[in-house]
Amino acid sequence: MRMYDIIKSKRDGKSLSKEQIDFFIKGYVDGTIPDYQASALLMAIYFKGMDIKETTNLTLAIRDSGKVLKFEDIGGVRVDKHSTGGVGDKTTLIVAPIVASLGVKVAKMSGRGLGHTGGTIDKLESIPNYKTDISIEEFKNIVNQTNLSIVGQNSELAPADKKLYALRDVTATVDSLPLIASSIMGKKLASNDDCIVLDVKTGSGSFMKTVEDSKKLSKLMVEIGKNAGKKVVALITDMSSPLGNAIGNSLEVIEAIETLNGNGPKDLTELCITIASNMLFLAGKGSLEECEKMSKEAIYSKKALETFIKTVKLHGGDCSYILNTSKFEKAKYTKEVLSLKTGYVTEIDAEGYGLASLMLGAGRNTKEDKIDYLAGIIIKKKVGDYVLEGESLAEMYTSDSNAFDLAVKKYLQSTIIGDEKPKKPPLIYDKVE
Ligand code: URA
Repeated sequence: MRMYDIIKSKRDGKSLSKEQIDFFIKGYVDGTIPDYQASALLMAIYFKGMDIKETTNLTLAIRDSGKVLKFEDIGGVRVDKHSTGGVGDKTTLIVAPIVASLGVKVAKMSGRGLGHTGGTIDKLESIPNYKTDISIEEFKNIVNQTNLSIVGQNSELAPADKKLYALRDVTATVDSLPLIASSIMGKKLASNDDCIVLDVKTGSGSFMKTVEDSKKLSKLMVEIGKNAGKKVVALITDMSSPLGNAIGNSLEVIEAIETLNGNGPKDLTELCITIASNMLFLAGKGSLEECEKMSKEAIYSKKALETFIKTVKLHGGDCSYILNTSKFEKAKYTKEVLSLKTGYVTEIDAEGYGLASLMLGAGRNTKEDKIDYLAGIIIKKKVGDYVLEGESLAEMYTSDSNAFDLAVKKYLQSTIIGDEKPKKPPLIYDKVE
């Protein structure tokens, strides 16, 4: 078999066989297929697509490129959640403790930020001493004590995805339906949980910009998961605006703790309750209504917060920061973003807000970049809010005062102000089962 022929087949719109897909993944991981041939195939897939059989075979090849986790020593049902990536998305930090506090195991491997989107692992590392890089044994041990552990993606799991993702990131081939579906589901199947709730983001801050594309992606991932014997649902949720008010690592952790204390922003709290209820429902904890009631109770009784505190402690993290969020260090420089106009905020470009936060230091431009955990944005006006000229739209935080000019410019460009009060988009568009 020759890589040249595989590229040519896809370029000409033909379906690839399982053998061709396995040959590509194996050769790319072991280094016999170079980046330039892998890039050419990715671009051909980007333009010509893949059918469900090819996408499933690609997913399984990614899963089998490394270890598949085994959990014989952890009893009970394990549930995972995965967001396709967004701005201000700190739901894992809230949802996972809710579900774990109600007796369902959440053994979660999470990612780092990518481009304008944030990552759970970077957020957790803003809690002093929290270790995200622990052995699989320690990971299982913590899950056995608190039902919850959140760690970084283990390098032995789905290594093909790690390599392919880095290549897609620099070859403009991230936003392809079969490539996103196989990347996410390849990793999820390697983590080998029993049930998965997929939070498929739609809108300017996500990789899928339209509800139609998000629906297609959801259907594809649910079908792949079911064919692999997993219980899967996908929620299609809004990412035309950031979730909650905080963007940036320690700022988002503080907002997540406020939400676990029952004082979170409405949109964030509502979405977390919905995701948690669906996870509990898949785990067989009751009807959706019962699971919703339990999830709310876990917040108001502080049971979820207690689980989070115990888990952070087992990961070596300093819990005094969770008990008293004013202990989190503040960024050296802050700046208010003042509105240039009077009117209603009619539209926000969530990607633009994510990029403004990245310019302040909250994200990476290259994989090697160091993150400024204190950098980010607190949004003060969201879609539908009225603002006066000169009034604050947001507060920015950074350790580099030179970063403000570009970040403020980007933020203002990404905030549309008009005369008519707009209709807010729904928080949850659809559910694919
Ligand atoms: N998240 C992933 O893990 N992979 C993608 O391709 C896109 C989002």
